[in-house]
Amino acid sequence: MYRLILLLIIITIVYWLIKRAFSPKKGKAAKLDETGEELVQDPFCQCYIPKSQSYAVSLKNKKLFFCSEDCYKKYLESGALPKN
Ligand SMILES: [Zn+2]
Repeated sequence: MYRLILLLIIITIVYWLIKRAFSPKKGKAAKLDETGEELVQDPFCQCYIPKSQSYAVSLKNKKLFFCSEDCYKKYLESGALPKN
């Protein structure tokens, strides 16, 4: 019985890994919060916020998500963005 449980756990892990490998999302696997919503990382304070509650900004064809407008301003002031 114990071996059967172990086998089931292994199958679950393998299935999860295969599912992950074929996931259409590129790059890092998206983090999800309890409600299953995608979490985005604030590049300034490094905290994670649900996408819908984030302060999203498009900069140089790159989408950035901040936890607040305040963080966005501080990020710009910090000179983290490349010039031009
Ligand atoms: Zn922040």
